[in-house]
Amino acid sequence: MAQVCNMIFYKTDEEIELIRESCLIVSKTLALVASEIRPGISGAELDKKAEEFIRDHQAEPGFKGYNGFPSTLCISVNEGVVHGIPSKDGFKEGDIVSVDCGAYKNGFFGDSAYTFALGDVSEEVRNLLVVTNDSLYKGIDEIKVGAWIGNIGFAVQEYAEKQHKYGVVRQLVGHGIGKDLHEAPEVPNYGRRNSGKKMKPGLVIAIEPMVNLGTRKVTIAKDGWTIITQDNKVSAHFEHTVAVRKDGPDILTDHSLIENAIKNTSNVKEITIKS
Ligand code: MG
Ligand code: MG
Repeated sequence: MAQVCNMIFYKTDEEIELIRESCLIVSKTLALVASEIRPGISGAELDKKAEEFIRDHQAEPGFKGYNGFPSTLCISVNEGVVHGIPSKDGFKEGDIVSVDCGAYKNGFFGDSAYTFALGDVSEEVRNLLVVTNDSLYKGIDEIKVGAWIGNIGFAVQEYAEKQHKYGVVRQLVGHGIGKDLHEAPEVPNYGRRNSGKKMKPGLVIAIEPMVNLGTRKVTIAKDGWTIITQDNKVSAHFEHTVAVRKDGPDILTDHSLIENAIKNTSNVKEITIKS
């Protein structure tokens, strides 16, 4: 799912508020998912609830129909990295489930993802989730007017790959977002400091580290959509839509809504919630 136009569209303050509105719907949808997801429920059931919720908020699912994608949510289980199609099979105790959601309202998209741990997972998997979520914020911390986009990926890679020896996916990257779901510039989760474009106020980007327990290499599953790890080890994915402001990053999606929902259910482990 790559963008087609190389031009960067900087957003006005009014446009950023419209993107924030779409992002809030996405965050609330993921909070609904957090409260409903459990062993036994299927991705298809969650997808139906998510679509109803988005439409009830006078918005449209951002992914459904995008390049032919059939669903409202991308649900990628265990070795699934991203772009999984919700299936009718129930989740199992110990699964980790990455849920990616987009919404479109008032002409603008919002985009966010979160990975849920269902029941008990190993210490190894727990650590992957914590590090992937933390790497997202390491990337966001690099947002500063005049700094280079490459600094974001450098920070993610430095933390997840160099310090923690996980595999940072190369083939899929974060992106600009606005009137299109995927706009320029690309926002890789790897790279060098002081490379790429310089950040200017009004730039709105989705930052989305995809981090694998084993190899960074991925392949496409038989369904033609789901990106899976080549070694079938698990993968985690967290994503925020963020605006670049004069005084730094403005995170437009809100994971606290998801994390509050997790605190109120016993079906999802509170692994990535900071105390
Ligand atoms: Mg996404
Ligand atoms: Mg995205």
